[in-house]
Amino acid sequence: STCSGGKLRALVTGGSGFLGQHLVSQLLATGKYDVRVFDVRDNGSSTVPVTVGDLRKSEQVVEATKHMDVVFHCATAAPTGANALNNSLMHSVNVDGTRNIIDACVTNGVPKLVYTSSASVVFDGTNLYDVDEQQPYAKKPMDYYTNTKILGEKLVLEANGRGGLMTCALRPSGIFGEHDPVFVPTLISQAKKGKTKFIIGRGDNMMDFTYVGNVAQAHLQAAAAMTPQAVAGKAYFITNQEPKPF
Ligand code: NAD
Repeated sequence: STCSGGKLRALVTGGSGFLGQHLVSQLLATGKYDVRVFDVRDNGSSTVPVTVGDLRKSEQVVEATKHMDVVFHCATAAPTGANALNNSLMHSVNVDGTRNIIDACVTNGVPKLVYTSSASVVFDGTNLYDVDEQQPYAKKPMDYYTNTKILGEKLVLEANGRGGLMTCALRPSGIFGEHDPVFVPTLISQAKKGKTKFIIGRGDNMMDFTYVGNVAQAHLQAAAAMTPQAVAGKAYFITNQEPKPF
């Protein structure tokens, strides 16, 4: 179902957001994709057509995914601000909304779905050393948001093969970079209040932060490499480099 000019049609859900914007730019930069965004908000700076719509409205999701060659599902009800306390919102967007995306892809014969998950799906509150993607999901996810990311990822991976749909899940940890709305801005505002030093636990905890451009690039690579024999049905942690031995 390639469109005129031989370009692949790509939909980026959450394309008005932090990661989504980078993904849109990188897709355009390849010259191989005709890109559209589906998001509840239009941030006013998109260089591609934006369909303002809600993941929770299945008919809108069906409409937006028509004729797509690949859907990148990056939208999320993020665990920030008032959302952080709104479990029903997070469940309806991150779980029911993800189910709507999957069903719409199957209905419309979309061949590829790349889901943005999170490394926190395996974090049970204790340090993890040398784990890989065989690590089971956290039994006690650290918060409700993480629980919804687990449920969403399971739905996506279980859907692999359904009606010819190929799916995969990418798991970045913390993300930093241009247009970051939360992480670095929070550090800066706290620093301005004089809070320049935080130590959680003994101070030897490890947390991975990955550059947003690398996370976006992983999405392009996953889509390009996905075949029924490879990538499809799998989850991948996404990081900047091999963890250093210690
Ligand atoms: P973001 O909040 O900047 O972007 C999410 C986008 O989703 C927003 O533009 C928002 O308007 C949109 N959205 C929210 N509810 C929607 C709905 N009902 N229908 C349609 N669109 C909706 O978040 P982000 O940091 O860019 O996160 C992108 C993805 O990366 C998410 O899946 C998130 O779970 C994952 N992730 C982020 C981080 C991080 O540190 N930022 C870490 C790990 C995983």
